[in-house]
Formats: sequence, structure tokens, C-alpha cells
Amino acid sequence: MGKFAEADALISKIFICRKCKTRNKRGAAKCRKCGSIYMRAKRKDIRVKK
Ligand SMILES: [Zn+2]
Repeated sequence: MGKFAEADALISKIFICRKCKTRNKRGAAKCRKCGSIYMRAKRKDIRVKK
């Protein structure tokens, strides 16, 4: 978890199309733009200074 719980929750709901990098909602079967089924979750492990 990062510093902001709300932002984390929001980020985890976003899926990125591997093909065209469009943001899609989590649970979307296909990319809304190009129809690709190859999607990844948005990176959650944002580097934070310690
Ligand atoms: Zn796409």
C-alpha cells in the first residue's frame, strides 16, 4: 500500500491495455478502444522514498 489509500484503491481498479495502453475498468473483458483481451493491472508498487 502506498501513502494514500484512496489513490491505491483507484489505481487497483484500472486495467491497461497491453496493445494500445488505454485505461479500462477492472473486470472489463476487452479493451474498450481496440478490443484486445490483453490487459494488465496498473502498476501498484510505485516507488516511494524511504
Ligand atoms: Zn486496447
